[in-house]
Amino acid sequence: MARPAPRVGVLALQGDVREHVALLEALGADVSLVRTPAQLEAVDGLVLPGGESSVIDKLSRLFEVREPIVARIADGMPAFGTCAGLILLADRILDGLPTQLPFGGLDVDVRRNAFGSQVDSFEAELAVPALGEEPVRATFIRAPAVERVGDGVEVLAHVDGRVIAVEQGNLLGTAFHPEVNGELRFHRRFLATVERVGGA
Ligand code: GLN
Repeated sequence: MARPAPRVGVLALQGDVREHVALLEALGADVSLVRTPAQLEAVDGLVLPGGESSVIDKLSRLFEVREPIVARIADGMPAFGTCAGLILLADRILDGLPTQLPFGGLDVDVRRNAFGSQVDSFEAELAVPALGEEPVRATFIRAPAVERVGDGVEVLAHVDGRVIAVEQGNLLGTAFHPEVNGELRFHRRFLATVERVGGA
């Protein structure tokens, strides 16, 4: 019998939800949108999209899905955050809004808008040895950077000497947007983690 497709959610409160859904579906995942605790319960892994981390934080509290997400992450649910999603996965946010909270899980400090206003947006070719020899074409949009990396965190890539992709256990985060370049390898890696960890 064929293995069932991994059941993954995309947190759909704000941000580039559609791009992630399209990419995950292209990779054969069973994808649903997550806005409520019940929808979260129905998935075995969660993608946190790019967008505006302070808005996603605020809406997650309004929709009462924040605490369940924090609990699932603490319980080992695989999660993959891109840009604002990476900010949300960090244990600590630098330059956040005064009331802004992350979900946490990744033992890192992440600075919002770390590349400054002079370069709001740029593209770069990145070496990401964990994904193979082919470089990653990455789009950075008001991107964060990781400024402190905890002991259990693996750095996957740098740009300009700054850490912009990390992995720790079942959590993966990139400061850029693989979903806008049709780069499949990070999502494939996330789905492999979901398959490895398995459903209930
Ligand atoms: N600067 C945004 C934030 O703080 C992130 C930008 C993005 O996701 N492209 O959430």
